[in-house]
Amino acid sequence: MRRLKCYTLGLNKPILAKVTHNTQKRKLRSDYVLLAKEKRLGNCKGYQAVIVEEARAEIYGEKLKNLPLIVVSDGLDELNEHDVVQIITNANELLIPYECQSPHNGLFLTSSCNSRCVMCPQKPKPDSEDRVRFNKRLIELIAPGPEYLTLSGGEPTLLGEQLIYLIEACRNKLPQTKLMLLTNGRKLKEISFVNKLARASQGYLAVAVALYADTDLEHDKIVGASGAFEEALKGCNNLALYGFQIEIRIVIMELNYMRLPQLADFIYRNLTYVSHIALMGLELQELAKENLEKIWIDPYQYQSQLLEACHLLLRRGFRVSIYNHQLCTIPQQLWPLSRKSISTWKNIYLPICEKCQEKPNCGGFFTSALTRHSEHILPINI
Ligand code: SF4
Repeated sequence: MRRLKCYTLGLNKPILAKVTHNTQKRKLRSDYVLLAKEKRLGNCKGYQAVIVEEARAEIYGEKLKNLPLIVVSDGLDELNEHDVVQIITNANELLIPYECQSPHNGLFLTSSCNSRCVMCPQKPKPDSEDRVRFNKRLIELIAPGPEYLTLSGGEPTLLGEQLIYLIEACRNKLPQTKLMLLTNGRKLKEISFVNKLARASQGYLAVAVALYADTDLEHDKIVGASGAFEEALKGCNNLALYGFQIEIRIVIMELNYMRLPQLADFIYRNLTYVSHIALMGLELQELAKENLEKIWIDPYQYQSQLLEACHLLLRRGFRVSIYNHQLCTIPQQLWPLSRKSISTWKNIYLPICEKCQEKPNCGGFFTSALTRHSEHILPINI
C-alpha cells in the first residue's frame, strides 16, 4: 500500500475517508477529507479532516480551529479524487488503501495464515485490528468501482463466514468489479464452504490457488504444512465442481525450478479445468528475505525450464502469464507472456534500464530487488 509521510494537528480519532479536491454537499462531507491546494479555503465544516502541504500548514492551522489537519511533506500530487486514505491516530503516515487510478487495487483481508511459505513476502501474524469492519467500510467508500479487485492476505479463507459476508458486500456495492481471491486453497477442501462461496459470488469471483510443485513432498516443504498439497488439489476440484474460474499461481524459486516442466504436465493431466496459469518471480520481503539463500535463483538460470513449461501449457490450450520478471532475463519467445504485474507503488527500474528500448514493455522490479536481482540485467536494443 502506498504511504505518505505526514503529521497531524487536532486529530483525536482514526480516519478512513475518500479524498476530494472539490467542495462536496454538506450532507456528504462526513465520508471525505478535503485536499486543500488553494490559498483560499471556503467553509470546511463537516469534513473528517483537511489535507495540506507542509508549506501551508501554518496558514490553515490558524483558520481551521475545529477541524483536524493532516500535513503532508511530500507527494500530495499523488493523491487523486476518490482515492481512499487512512490515518491511525498518532501515526505519522497517511496510508492509501485504495488508489482510483491504479489497476492493482485489492482488499487486504487478514494477516493470519494456516501455512508458512518459505518465500512469503508477508510474514503471517494475528490481526491487530478488526479488518472485516475496516474492509466493509472500505468497500462502502470505493467509488466508482474498479475493473478488478483482489482479495488477499494472509489466507483470506480463514475468515470463513466473514469472507462470504465481504464478497456479498462487494457484489452489492461494486457489481461491475471482477473479484480475484488469492488463496492457498487448503480450506477449499470443505465442499460446504465452496458451496457458500459459489452462492455468495454468483459467478462474480475467480480464484487463484497457489501450487508450487507436482509432488506432495516438495509442495508441503515449501509451504511448511503437511497435507497442504492434497488439500489444495481437493480445493481445486471443489472449485471446478461449482464452475469457478480457476487460476494456478506458481512462484519460481531454487526449490522448485528444476521441475517446472513436470509441474506443467501435472496441471495438464490433473487440473484440466484451470483457465490461467501464472508463473511468478520472487518478492524478497519478510520470510523470503530471511530465507534468501535457500530460495534465490537467478531467473536467467531457469530460462530452459520456464520455456519448456510455458510451451507445454500453451500447446495444450492453457492461458499462461509470466509475472514479476524482467524481459532481459527471460527468453525472447516468452516476452508476449510477460505482464506488468507489480503494483505501481512498489515497481522500480534500475538506472541501467534508462538505456533499454523495451522498458515500456518490461515489468521491472519490486523495490525489494535492491536486496538482490538477476546478474543478467542488460538493456535491450534490437
Ligand atoms: S534492462 Fe531493465 S527495462 Fe530493460 S528488460 Fe532489463 S530490466 Fe527491463
